[in-house]
Amino acid sequence: MDATVRLPPGSPIASPRQTVSTSGDASVSDSPRSVLVTGGNRGIGLAIARALSEAGDRVIVASRSGEAPEGLEAVQCDVADTASVDAAFTAAEELVGGPIEIVVANAGVTRDTLLLRMSDEDFDAVVNTNLAGAFRCARRASKGMIRMKRGRIILISSVVGLLGSAGQTNYAASKSGLVGLARSITRELGGRNITANVVAPGFIDTDMTRELTDDQRAAYVKQIPAGRLAEPEEVAAAVRFLASPEASYISGAVIPVDGGLGMGH
Ligand code: NDP
Repeated sequence: MDATVRLPPGSPIASPRQTVSTSGDASVSDSPRSVLVTGGNRGIGLAIARALSEAGDRVIVASRSGEAPEGLEAVQCDVADTASVDAAFTAAEELVGGPIEIVVANAGVTRDTLLLRMSDEDFDAVVNTNLAGAFRCARRASKGMIRMKRGRIILISSVVGLLGSAGQTNYAASKSGLVGLARSITRELGGRNITANVVAPGFIDTDMTRELTDDQRAAYVKQIPAGRLAEPEEVAAAVRFLASPEASYISGAVIPVDGGLGMGH
């Protein structure tokens, strides 16, 4: 594995005399910044969209239906399709009148079944949405970010990507892949004032976890040190921090929001 780290000339580490200023952070502009959240029409994505909107940002929700939640603007986007992602970014850029500065790749699906029963289609569909979908968004967003010389890429993974989960080989593989994606983007674009981070939620009360039976839910809660599921807003708070000027020097990080479930992974 090639893990070459190139320090740019004049980087704080290469030159100890250089001071690092946290004021006037160039990796994110003053509000309102332009934000695109995939799958921002419900669940965790909607909570993220609302949190950033409340923070003063211009938030565009990218949803499959193209319908906007109350108080937000939306563009139509299927992250499983490159042309749709490109068109969604173009439409969002037209709405905000410039490039997208913060992208949150949140859209995700599950198709759970045991390894022996998992079809190629089950595997491909989940990886194509959760991992390749995030890649398509990051690639398209990076064009404008490179031009602007700043940007934030935030990928919504899962504790399952770190712990693994029986019956979720497709989902866990897609979610752990996001870590390599964010860290590689950090190595490619970190010197251009672009950060890429991963948020790894545990069990959050949304449509996705409402599919669990009461027994499954109780078994999961038993394993969570916090002793409860989280609300989508608790994930949104971590995303809001990663998007803020205060997080300018955080990149390639995996931030757990899991009540301690994934500790040490
Ligand atoms: P939901 O099932 O409530 O929502 C999923 C969202 O993703 C919806 O907005 C959905 O849009 C969108 N989506 C799915 N496929 C596509 C696609 N091809 N193109 C565009 N949008 C799509 O899930 P959550 O809110 O719970 O999950 C959000 C993210 O957080 C996911 O990535 C999930 O894996 C992750 N996560 C969730 C956890 C949880 O406990 N809930 C735990 C850890 C991670 P539509 O309305 O059109 O279906």
